Parts: sequence; structure tokens; C-alpha cells
Amino acid sequence: MRTEFTAEQLADPQIATSNEILRKCVHCGFCTATCPTYVLLGDELDSPRGRIYLIKNMLEDGGPATGEVVKHVDRCLSCLACMTTCPASVDYMHLVDHARVHIEKTYRRPLAERLIRRFIAATLPEPKRARPLMRLGAAVRPLAPILQRLPVTRPLAAMLGLMPKALPPSQAALGPGVYAAEGERRARVALLAGCVQIVIAPHIGRATVRLLNRLGTEVVIPATAGCCGALVHHLGREDEAHAHARTDIDSWTGELDRGLDAVISDASGCGTMIKDYGFIFRNDPQYAEKAARISDLAMDVSEFVDRLGLGPATAAEPLRVAYHSACSMQHGQRVHAQPVSLLRRAGFEVLEVPEGHLCCGSAGTYNILQPELSRQLRDRKIDRITGIRPDVVATGNIGCISQLSPATDIPFVHTVELLDWATGGPRPQALQNVKRNSA
Ligand code: SF4
Ligand code: SF4
Repeated sequence: MRTEFTAEQLADPQIATSNEILRKCVHCGFCTATCPTYVLLGDELDSPRGRIYLIKNMLEDGGPATGEVVKHVDRCLSCLACMTTCPASVDYMHLVDHARVHIEKTYRRPLAERLIRRFIAATLPEPKRARPLMRLGAAVRPLAPILQRLPVTRPLAAMLGLMPKALPPSQAALGPGVYAAEGERRARVALLAGCVQIVIAPHIGRATVRLLNRLGTEVVIPATAGCCGALVHHLGREDEAHAHARTDIDSWTGELDRGLDAVISDASGCGTMIKDYGFIFRNDPQYAEKAARISDLAMDVSEFVDRLGLGPATAAEPLRVAYHSACSMQHGQRVHAQPVSLLRRAGFEVLEVPEGHLCCGSAGTYNILQPELSRQLRDRKIDRITGIRPDVVATGNIGCISQLSPATDIPFVHTVELLDWATGGPRPQALQNVKRNSA
């Protein structure tokens, strides 16, 4: 693609990077076929190629983003299916990240949108604020149908619909500390503490630590680490995202001297972000080196366990497991074979979900900010999952579990919960009343 940035514009390293990305696109349009919003809406401007043109024009112009550009960029899930498909290796992820930051800095959204985005940024990444908010959400959930009636309050209705009916007690979450390896120590890792997951599904972190400890891995959760920054990063709130990331980079860097074989995430949306710290801070003299080191160490828990070896494992029941590959896992991190192979080695029958490349509509806070498109993608995904009649669905991202599980009776678990169970851990709580399709 030809670009027409001025020499002065190209002096800005962000523009220079986006210019390189744009020039790689050959307009072939292969990406349109796998883009969820193009599949749903059929509008070229809601395809990757259309958005690339819009972003190019916006950045070349250099002025404030227009409502039209914002509409189509906002509708992008950042699912990155287009990057998996693109034969020219166009780095759409960093281009749309840049576009979101430009929009955030130059476009004044309507008041209701500004408020909900601020509210999300101030609460969800902070467990101390998210927990009481979710308790309140459970109490006012009956208001959701009323909020659903007005376009401006629809995001609040969507948020209520995603909140769990009952919240686990705060003591259920793993606190900071060192969790010792069982037997001879084979490895030492830092685990991302996280934010929303430890509030609504603390059992996932516990399963991760049990599994890693059982496999001879010492796990450290530094007291100062927290949210990885992905939630606000996708809102284009660059300064807040960087602040979260810097805190985590410093926390994990402090552990390097004691030896660290990996920085582990058990939420693939967060893992994609941590793997990108090196890029994000590439021009920051204070953080470039540290961030690159952390990104080099970042691994999804399934990647790490696959490398370490699962050891003896036997599924207590040979359940039919539909593996739902989160976009951040398959497209963002290109991790797919490892979780599937681990589940098979643990004795489960693993089924691939048809149209597995299409997003389920979760996508960070997309299901709050774009509830209509998100619901259509959710229903489509549930339809494909139901069609293969699994006993249970396994996935590696809490966002997908929150998005899909309220829409079906089929239980959802995190992949590590099944691996933990098969290697001696407790039966996952979502499987207490599982109805076997394979029986
Ligand atoms: S597939 Fe790649 S090169 Fe082709 S239009 Fe899409 S982004 Fe451009
Ligand atoms: S990231 Fe996903 S929604 Fe956005 S343009 Fe690419 S395929 Fe489409």
C-alpha cells in the first residue's frame, strides 16, 4: 500500500512503525473471510482491509479522528484472526493499537461513552474495586432489562449480564507469596496475579499453582504485581496501560536474581499483552531492556506444561471436551497444539469446535461496549459448540468463559482445571453436575 506521510510525521517512531506496517498490505482481501465483523456485517469498512485504509487516512491526515473512523475501529474485536490469515504478515495488531491511542487522544466521545469507558478503566483492573462492584451488580441484576431499553445504558445492562450470580469469597483468591514445588525443584516461575479472574474465578489460579507445584515448579506471585494492562490498552488508554505494565515488569524483574524460568499467565488475553511488552516499550530507554526480557520469558501455562512434560495423568472420566481456542491464544500467541495435546495426553477426548477461528465476542471489554455484535458472535459460537455435543468446554481465557457460559448449560472449565484433575487434583467445580453426552 502506498503511503504519503511527510518526513516530519515519519520522525515520530509510532508513525514510522505504522508506515512500515501499512506498506506491507497488498490489498488482497484474504483477511476479510476470517474477520468476524465482516462475516456478520458484510461491510468492507468493517473488514481488516477497510479498517487499514481508514487508519492510514486518519494517521496521514494527522488531525482528530472522525466519527466514521471511530465507529469502524470500535467494532474491531482485536481478535487478530486477520493476522493469522494474512499472507503478507501485516502487523494489524500494532496498527490498530496505534489507531486506538490516536482516537483516545483526539476524539471526544459522547458523554455516556466517556463515562462507561472511564468506569471500566477505574474498576475492572483493580480487584479491590471490582469485588464490591460485582457484589452490587449481583444485587441490581434485575434492572438489566430496563437498562437494555436505552442505547446509552445498554453497556451497563451487558456488564450486569456478565457478572456472576454469586461471588467466591475474597479469601478464595491466591495471595502473593512463594508456592513450593513438590519433590525435587525442576523450575521456578512467576505467575501473573491478574485482576478480574482472581475476583470471579480464583479456582483457576489455584488449579494452575497446584499443577505447576505437582510438576516440580516453584511459583512466585510478587506482592506488587497486578493487572497486566490489557483491559485499558484495548481502550486506547496508553498511559494507564503502561503504568500497569511497568509495575509488573518491575515486580518480575525483581525476581530474576533468584532465578526465573518463565513468567506464566493462565489467561491468554493477558499472556498476549505480556509477550508484547518488549514491543510496547521498545523506545523507552528505562524499560526497553527489562520489558524485552520479561516478554522473552512470557509463556501461557499450557506452553510451559507442554515443555516441562505432564507426567503420569489419567482422566477420572473420559469426557468429551470441546476445546475452545481463545483468539488471544490461537491468533495472539499462536498457541493451539499444546493445550489440545495436553488434554489428549490426560485421557480426554478432544473435539475441535467448527469455525474455531471466529471470535466468541468476548474480546476484553468488547462484550460491554459492543453488546449487539458480541451477542451475535456468542450465539453463533454456542450453536457450533452445541452441534458437537461435548460434555464440557475447555478454554484458556476467563473472558471466553464469562462470555459463553451464561448462554448454555454445558459446563465451562479452564484447561488447567482438567489437567490438574487428571494429575491428582480435585474435580473442577463446574463439573459437579455434568451431564455426559458420551455415556
Ligand atoms: S490479507 Fe493482509 S495483505 Fe491482504 S488485504 Fe488483508 S491485511 Fe492486506
Ligand atoms: S482483529 Fe478481528 S475484528 Fe479486527 S479486523 Fe482483524 S479479524 Fe476483523
